[in-house]
Amino acid sequence: MSTGMSADAVTDKVADTVADTVSVTGWGRTAPTAARLVRPRTYEEAVAAVRECGARGGIARGLGRAYGDAAQNAGGAVFDMTGLDRVHAIDADGGTVLCGAGVSLHRLMEVLLPLGWFVPVTPGTRYVTVGGAIGADIHGKNHHVSGSFARHVLSFELLTADGEIRTVRPGTPLFDATAGGMGLTGVILTATVRLEPVETSLMSVDTERATDLDDLMARLTATDHRYRYSVAWIDLLARGTSMGRSVLTRGDHAPLEALAEGTRARRAPLEFRPGRLPAAPSFVPEGLLGRTTVGLFNELWYRKAPRARTGELQRMSTFFHPLDGVPHWNRVYGRGGFVQYQFVVGHGREEALGRIVHRISQRRCPSFLAVLKRFGEGDPGWLSFPMPGWTLALDIPANLPGLGGFLDELDEEVAAAEGRVYLAKDSRLRPELLASMYPRLGEFRALRAELDPRSVFTSDLSRRLGL
Ligand SMILES: Cc1cc2nc3c(=O)[nH]c(=O)nc-3n(C[C@H](O)[C@H](O)[C@H](O)COP(=O)(O)OP(=O)(O)OC[C@H]3O[C@@H](n4cnc5c(N)ncnc54)[C@H](O)[C@@H]3O)c2cc1C
Repeated sequence: MSTGMSADAVTDKVADTVADTVSVTGWGRTAPTAARLVRPRTYEEAVAAVRECGARGGIARGLGRAYGDAAQNAGGAVFDMTGLDRVHAIDADGGTVLCGAGVSLHRLMEVLLPLGWFVPVTPGTRYVTVGGAIGADIHGKNHHVSGSFARHVLSFELLTADGEIRTVRPGTPLFDATAGGMGLTGVILTATVRLEPVETSLMSVDTERATDLDDLMARLTATDHRYRYSVAWIDLLARGTSMGRSVLTRGDHAPLEALAEGTRARRAPLEFRPGRLPAAPSFVPEGLLGRTTVGLFNELWYRKAPRARTGELQRMSTFFHPLDGVPHWNRVYGRGGFVQYQFVVGHGREEALGRIVHRISQRRCPSFLAVLKRFGEGDPGWLSFPMPGWTLALDIPANLPGLGGFLDELDEEVAAAEGRVYLAKDSRLRPELLASMYPRLGEFRALRAELDPRSVFTSDLSRRLGL
């Protein structure tokens, strides 16, 4: 359905928006490029910005938490959507919210938790927008139970290349192309999202250690179904018999009765209390990010974790978003920035996962705690990343000698195992591997060709990969 608003109907509203040429980069701070940044605050301004974006096209951007080059567009326009930041309506009985695409999950938590509702899916940071959550079809620690973000989206409004604003619902090609479509079908303006009921703002968390990769996978396979949220922090610098040693943290929203009578938590069970630490320094001596220090950190962290602990009450921010407590933590990697590498391989491909973990640990990549998770059913988005199986995500300083070639080899291994890398984290994948990783790429390209024949929506990622 179209609202009937077209680019031609819009007047000079764009004069109100800010349009500056700035350097734009992803969260990993690799490959910055210059673009005209436009910040629309109304539908009309958004339509005008798209209409006037010029021959190099434009791409929507949320809070820039994609690690790679998905939300940048060299020489063209970038639409900063954080100006569409209104929560329009909350159905506190039915558990849905209608909000602007620029609203962050942090803001939604502030507004919704006191009403007894939580976002259906949260990634490892709550500083992502609803538009970015749909654009990358993000997953969280509950993927094995709840799937990815778009599965909870009841509808969204999409501004397409022809200047029309369409209401898009699940089960349609445009929905499936946009969920995980990395902003390339248009600009999401608003979305209606189904919420998760909670009794408290605390989490009840079980922690246990796994001695190696086999032990870890056995534990996840045997007992993950008992938990709504599950993740393993894995030490990729450990070698030999310790290779893949990990700490599993799994849990659920704490019920009211888990909070002791007379405590502050019991008196205000739905209070949202994210912690905040001082900002990370913008420069950390290179040696501090070397193998020895990172290895020591990982070692201490593993030993500090309890062998087994159940029912610990944790703040949501501690459980879901530990890094959000340190503003600008991505700066500690210095000017070179860092690459986050995330891939998934299916069930039955455990040998490939083992080989990749072995290669990473042999290569001695100075990677702070990496994350291993077991995904549930795949999601309908044509370019959605999750598929049933195992996903591993790790950070690596971008200036590590030989990193490009090494990751190319890992890509080959992932592709050979019929797995895929996550586009929201990517800044370097070679285009020839894409079609085998994303089998519905052909449909995606065909829909784009029809909907946006002049490639109005373009990003550095789409140019690099030929999306
Ligand atoms: C610390 C950290 C932890 C993370 N953990 C996870 C995780 O656990 N799971 C996970 O899935 N991801 C994770 N991510 C990645 C992050 O969730 C995604 O990259 C997300 O898309 C970022 O949202 P954003 O608002 O910052 O969007 P941006 O990074 O600005 O953009 C991301 C993509 O969404 C598109 N987009 C943004 N807004 C719109 C819009 N209004 N309309 C259309 N398209 C739009 C952009 O074009 C781009 O392709 C993590 C990132 C960080 C920094």
